[in-house]
Amino acid sequence: RKKIGVLTSGGDASGMNACVRSVVLYGISKGCDVYAVYEGYQGNRGIQVDGECVLGVVVDGSLVDGGDYIRKMDWRSVTGYLSIGGTSIGTARCMPFKTREGRLQAAENLIKNGIDSLIVCGGDGSLTGADLFRSEWDGLVRELRGADRITQEEATTFKHLTIVGLVGSIDNDMSSTDITIGAVTSLHRICEAVDSVDTTALSHSRAFVIEVMGRHCGWLALMAGIATGADFVFIPEQPPSEDDWETAMCTVARRHRDLGKRKTIIIVAEGALDRHLKPIKVDHIKDVLTDRLGLDTRVTILGHTQRGGSPCAFDRILGTVQSIAAVDAVLASTPETPSPMIGMNNNKVTTKPLMDAVRLTHQVAEAIESQNFEKAMALRDPQFLD
Ligand code: ATP
Repeated sequence: RKKIGVLTSGGDASGMNACVRSVVLYGISKGCDVYAVYEGYQGNRGIQVDGECVLGVVVDGSLVDGGDYIRKMDWRSVTGYLSIGGTSIGTARCMPFKTREGRLQAAENLIKNGIDSLIVCGGDGSLTGADLFRSEWDGLVRELRGADRITQEEATTFKHLTIVGLVGSIDNDMSSTDITIGAVTSLHRICEAVDSVDTTALSHSRAFVIEVMGRHCGWLALMAGIATGADFVFIPEQPPSEDDWETAMCTVARRHRDLGKRKTIIIVAEGALDRHLKPIKVDHIKDVLTDRLGLDTRVTILGHTQRGGSPCAFDRILGTVQSIAAVDAVLASTPETPSPMIGMNNNKVTTKPLMDAVRLTHQVAEAIESQNFEKAMALRDPQFLD
């Protein structure tokens, strides 16, 4: 009988709850025991201060505390999860998991709970950590046995750890998958916000410079620009080709105004760069529009509203179908199988080696840093691997 742990890690993304629900329900239907690991890797490590848990979450009306971070789920534990944004089992950025000592503790906690498989829903950092955890597993088990922290029987039973990755991130920045869980909900929130700004911009004939999330990835900014008909978009992957991008932007904005437009909308990815890789700042854009075009210009930083709230239908479906594939991957895994990442390519759920996707994602960042934008795009393009 497989004992599967499911955890959400890194930045929260709408649709993570659909993943947890689907892993629990499908896992149980396949005869597995399913455990939720609360607070990401933090929960896995079971952080305590003076014997008390630092964090607790309310699930089904009861407070999970007293070190009870790993909790067996039943059919009813995930009631209502589909429509709840973020992640109800909590997430955290857990620095100790980046250390070997932290991962040793995590291994002990999993073994003591009898868990032999972990489904991790998170961004590239979380999935890098998951793959590292698996690659070290053999050594961690030996060390735990050597220190008498686990029994010989446990060391033999838990010889292998199965890891499966689900990509939960609003940024859509993972290579080898077309779309990540949470990105579309976030895009919806951005479009709603830009639409709201549009009405006031139109009324006052103003310009707005709107900063959106995405870290080093311009997907949210670009898609929001297309979906809202923005006048100009700045993204990290394609910096303006001229040094004097201010003039290029003003020319476009002026032309649109001359054609009778009463509003100007500029969307800026938070990681936007000029062609010398210097950050393009929203306040600077505001000053340019004000000084050169005389536009009454405001800055709007959308901030954490973009994390989503209630997931859109797409993210509920994506989280659900990918998690079914994740449980199937756990059941099909052997000690020799590389850890898989569940992706979506050409509208089909796909399974690819996790480490390849993580490596390519890191290479995208390097390619952008070295201004090789075409290579960056090719590395992110899922067809690249096929
Ligand atoms: P997002 O894309 O939303 O930021 P993420 O998963 O990339 O999500 P990170 O903060 O990079 O977010 O990582 C989440 C957690 O994963 C970290 O707090 C840490 O516990 C673990 N982690 C990240 N990188 C590593 C690593 N190299 N080795 C071990 N663990 C890691």
